Amino acid sequence: MNCRMCSSTRLYKFLDLGFTPPADQFRRKDQLREADVYYPLQVMMCEDCGLAQLSYVVSPEVLYRNDYPYESSTTQTGRQHWADFAASVVKRLSLSPGDLAVDIGSNVGVLLGAFRDNGMRVQGVDPAANIVMIARENGIDTMCEFFNEDAARQIVAEKGSASAITATNVFAHVDDLDALIESVKLLLNERGVFIFEAPYFVNLLKHNEYDTIYHEHLSYLSAKPLVPFFAKHGMEVFHIEQNDIHGGSFRVFVARKGQRSVSKDVNGVIAEEDRLGIYTRETLDRFADGVRKNKRDLTWLLQSLKHEGKRIVGVSAPAKGMTLLNYCRIDNDVLDFVTEKSKLKIGRHTPGAHIPVVPDSELLAQQPDYALLLAWNFAEEIMRNLDAFRRKGGKFIVPIPSPRIVE
Ligand SMILES: [Zn+2]
Repeated sequence: MNCRMCSSTRLYKFLDLGFTPPADQFRRKDQLREADVYYPLQVMMCEDCGLAQLSYVVSPEVLYRNDYPYESSTTQTGRQHWADFAASVVKRLSLSPGDLAVDIGSNVGVLLGAFRDNGMRVQGVDPAANIVMIARENGIDTMCEFFNEDAARQIVAEKGSASAITATNVFAHVDDLDALIESVKLLLNERGVFIFEAPYFVNLLKHNEYDTIYHEHLSYLSAKPLVPFFAKHGMEVFHIEQNDIHGGSFRVFVARKGQRSVSKDVNGVIAEEDRLGIYTRETLDRFADGVRKNKRDLTWLLQSLKHEGKRIVGVSAPAKGMTLLNYCRIDNDVLDFVTEKSKLKIGRHTPGAHIPVVPDSELLAQQPDYALLLAWNFAEEIMRNLDAFRRKGGKFIVPIPSPRIVE
């Protein structure tokens, strides 16, 4: 296998999470008899350009066409994030009313809705038919396609070229990045800017966020490999911002070479990455040791509670929770059920472990002893919303970075 950005074969495998089913394949009852398909989940570091990436690519047709269950608007923290994102982009790039914003992997259209609130024309592109239907009901014009050259040309023909193209939690999902960037260039006007947001690899390492590793995330992005990669396409990274969503993401601004002045922080971010040693085998090996320790500690904690006869359930069922459950082998013997807000997941069973997914209200109705927070990045919001559970003596378990009980 070759590096996705620079084609090097010098790849160092530093983490092996075993075999897991795709994290978004929640099963309907009638599918429970079919065996789950397990794929290897291993991460490698390119020792030439510094891109961390999975060793195995599951076909996007398998991952995204089968009624994909992720809705980006399900939390308050999430919605506010998109509104702030749109407003800051409009301001930073001095976009004008009527300019076109295109979102790749636009999901139900929350970010585009925010661009529209800022006076822009918008166009979504997303391959999941069930999600696109919701976006259209929200009044967001959305093409049901994978974003590629054809989609780019079609948008240019219908709406003209774009001033801003956004891709949030998409860039890290794409296998053929060269093709993605060439399609972006076709659609972008001369001064136009491509902005993508992805979980930042440095945070993954720092905070032991190994559960953000799953088959949809092919790349674990840091700043250093991006510079030569975009240069190869005649483009330039001119600004990088960091924020707290999904356990720490970074937002990267890219334009055609020479169109926007490059801010000092780009080199600053890269220097900090080198100072932290994120591209060295020592750091990566130490991280992998920490992951194995997390698994031992969490399974020990849960098993001890079960020995005491405690009832434990999971709260919320994000994709990352599925990596955690499958890697730590937490199944229906440990968790009675997992609660969730999203209607697209309720009534189904988690991939692999087949734990039933029930509405949030079941937590209060059944009042188990412990609730394992699988969406730990929204821990504060979730615990606040479930204060009634805690007041009746329920306790939370936050699994990452190291397992802790919150009473
Ligand atoms: Zn590389």
